[in-house]
Amino acid sequence: MNSSITRLASLIILSILLFVSCGEPVDEDLLVFSNAAVWDGVSQTMQENSALITRHGRVVEILDMNDPDLPTGAESVDLNNRFIIPGLVNAHGHVGMAKGLQTGPEVHSEENVRDQLKLYARYGITTVVSLGDEPQQAFTVRDEADFSSEGMARLFMSGPVLNPSTPDEAPEAVASLMQNNPDWTKIRVDDGLGTREKMSPEVYTAIIESSHRHNTPLAAHIVTLEDAKGVLQSGADLLAHSVRNAPVDDELIELMLERDVCITPTFTRELSVFIYAERPPFFDDPFFLKEADPNVIEQLQQPEVQQRYTGRAADFFREAIHQAELNMMRLHNAGVRIAMGTDSGPPARFQGYFEHIEMEMMQDAGMNPIEVLTSATRYAAECMRIDEELGTLEEGKWADFLVLDDNPFESIRNLRTIHSVYIGGNEVDR
Ligand SMILES: [Zn+2]
Repeated sequence: MNSSITRLASLIILSILLFVSCGEPVDEDLLVFSNAAVWDGVSQTMQENSALITRHGRVVEILDMNDPDLPTGAESVDLNNRFIIPGLVNAHGHVGMAKGLQTGPEVHSEENVRDQLKLYARYGITTVVSLGDEPQQAFTVRDEADFSSEGMARLFMSGPVLNPSTPDEAPEAVASLMQNNPDWTKIRVDDGLGTREKMSPEVYTAIIESSHRHNTPLAAHIVTLEDAKGVLQSGADLLAHSVRNAPVDDELIELMLERDVCITPTFTRELSVFIYAERPPFFDDPFFLKEADPNVIEQLQQPEVQQRYTGRAADFFREAIHQAELNMMRLHNAGVRIAMGTDSGPPARFQGYFEHIEMEMMQDAGMNPIEVLTSATRYAAECMRIDEELGTLEEGKWADFLVLDDNPFESIRNLRTIHSVYIGGNEVDR
C-alpha cells in the first residue's frame, strides 16, 4: 500500500518534471515557415533545410530544421522544400497615374492606386518606389494603408516631378512639395530627342540644393552621358534611367562611386516605346495573360495604336537598349550598385510583369541570378534608403518574402514559379 502510494507520487512528480522540461512555454506569436531553402538577401548561398521564423510580421531568425532552438509547438507552415527569398523591391515604378491606356484626372483615385499595389504584390513585388507624377491620392494611400493586412506592395513616392522655370523658383517649388513629405524628389533632364527644352544645369542645381536642405534625396531622369555627369556633379542621389546615348566612361564611374550613387536601368521602359508596333510575343505568355486586361491587349493591336510605337523615338530607344545593357554591366563590374527599376505604371508598361522581364533582361545582359536578385532586393532597398526595414530577411525587418517552387539561383526565370507572397508575415491573396 505504502509502496504504491510512493510509486504514484513519483509518477506525478515525474510527469510534472517532464511537462516542465519539454521546453519553454510556446510563444503563441511565433510563426514558423518550415522545410525551406532560405536566401536572406545577404549571403551568397541558400540555407538548405531551414525555417524562417517570424513574429508580429517581422523576421526573428532563420534556423536549420535540426537546430534544437527551433520552436516546437508554434504555429507552422510547411513549405515542402520550396525556396524563400526576400520580397522584390522595384526602385523605380509609378502608381496611380494611368488605368489601362488612359491617363489624366479621371483615372486618379485611391482605389486605382490600391489596385495597382495589389497587382505588384501578386507578382512578388512587395515594395515600390514610385518616382513621379502620382496623383495626390497616392500620398493618402502611402500614409494610411496597412500594407501587410491589405496585401499591397509597400509604397514610397516622390510626388509630382519638379519643373520650375528658373533657379529662383526652385526653393518654393520644393518647399510646396514638402507639405506631402515625399520620400524622394524627382527631376527630368531630357529634351525629348530635341523636341522640347531641356532643364538647365542652373535650374537642376538649385532644385537639388533645395531638396537636400529638406533632407530629401533626389532622383534624376537623364538620357545622355553629359547630363548624367552634370546632375551628379550637382549632387543628384540616383540616376533613374540608363545612360542611353554613349558608352559610360571612367569619369562617370568615379562620380557615381564617390558618393555611392546607384542607377535603375529601366530596360523595359525602352521596350515599351517600340514593342507594340507589332504584336509582342508576351501577348501569348500565360504569366502575362493571367493579370492583363483583355481590352488593353485588344487596343494595343489596333493599327492606329500600333502606329504610335513607330518613328524616331521608337528607333532610337530600340537601339539604346543595347547601349544601356553594356553600360549596366560596365557600371556593375566597376562596383556601382544597380537597383532593379522598370519605370512601370505609365500606359502599356505592365506593373508586376515588366519587373520579371526587366530581371530577365538583366540576366541576359550578363548578371548571374544572385546578382540580379541582390539588385532587386538588398541593393534596391539600400539605394532607395529604405533598407532599415526592407530588402533582406534579417532580424527585425519586415517579413516580406516570396515562396518559389523552383530555385531562383539556377535561373532568374524561376522567379515566375511563385507559390505564395507574404507582406508583413501575411499571405497576399493571389
Ligand atoms: Zn519613371
